[in-house]
Amino acid sequence: MALPVFRIDRRRRIADATISLHVVGLPPLAFIAALAAFLLLTATIAGCTDGPERTDVSGRTVQAVATTSMIADLVREIGGDRVHVEGLMGPGVDPHLYRATEGDVTRMTSADIIFFNGLHLEGKMAEVLEQVESRGIMADAVAEVVPVDSLLAPPEFQGNFDPHVWMDVSLWKLAAGAVAEGLANLDSTHAEGYKTRMAAYLARLDSLDTWVRGRLSDVGDDQRVLVTAHDAFNYFGRAYGFEVKGLQGISTATEAGAADVQNLAEFVANRRIHAMFVESSVPPRSIEAVQAAVRSRGFEVRIGGNLYSDALGNPASGHDNYEGMIRHNVNTIADALMPQSASEAPAAGVAMK
Ligand SMILES: [Zn+2]
Repeated sequence: MALPVFRIDRRRRIADATISLHVVGLPPLAFIAALAAFLLLTATIAGCTDGPERTDVSGRTVQAVATTSMIADLVREIGGDRVHVEGLMGPGVDPHLYRATEGDVTRMTSADIIFFNGLHLEGKMAEVLEQVESRGIMADAVAEVVPVDSLLAPPEFQGNFDPHVWMDVSLWKLAAGAVAEGLANLDSTHAEGYKTRMAAYLARLDSLDTWVRGRLSDVGDDQRVLVTAHDAFNYFGRAYGFEVKGLQGISTATEAGAADVQNLAEFVANRRIHAMFVESSVPPRSIEAVQAAVRSRGFEVRIGGNLYSDALGNPASGHDNYEGMIRHNVNTIADALMPQSASEAPAAGVAMK
């Protein structure tokens, strides 16, 4: 078993000093003990810090705002009945391109706490988030608690970290810890409840991670390639053993060019990849262009289905929560790339034209 790693540092992402506790790979009981120790430490430090007065939320519901739908789901899981969560970005919304509306700004400035991804995912919201923070509203970047040595920095993102950490379930556990910590800081009288809910949720994420590995275990080595519209799946690939090829870079803000389409088509045809995937928050036309370019090389690659990358699914779809999103993605990938799907097409899954 991996040794627990504690990293305590001071962040100034809110108006007064807080201490953040990063816990990596801890079993639930040890995590609870660690969080209890941390809360005691925070309480001690709070007594000698001259920060602005926090609103007392102990007698009412905490008002939280979350940027992406994955984060909104996480805050609902950890917050339970204590927290009302407003999610800014709905199903199919692309966070790289999303600009805050006037209504969003109102929601943020009247919130007790804001949770966002960070790592430049919400690329067009940086200024708004800074303004909100400057008013003393707590704003926590849940992906920025991931230790730097666990982050990916692909060259195409020009020196920035890849923000799509939710695609690795074990990294999303760290985000869950960040949410629990943020809520416990704000609403310390109910810290126990957040701890309990976090422990239960972390156990569910452990089960989910185990299920993912089992479900993907039958995908053959030659098919462990994930071809998608944009590079949202690098963490998924690293965690679960897939090579990842995105047509667009990390952000959807850059359109794929004709050369990118041809290069990817060449790769797919050469490697005889059975299926490529479209994404809920990226228009399918770019991946369809690759499919056509593969066909012009005399091979046939299927669109294996729709993956959720940067947003959850519609309400009541069953994919409107994080666990449902991951299960849908993994089932879609496994069904499209597993050996039995190869038998649907002649010539080892690649139809010769
Ligand atoms: Zn993305």
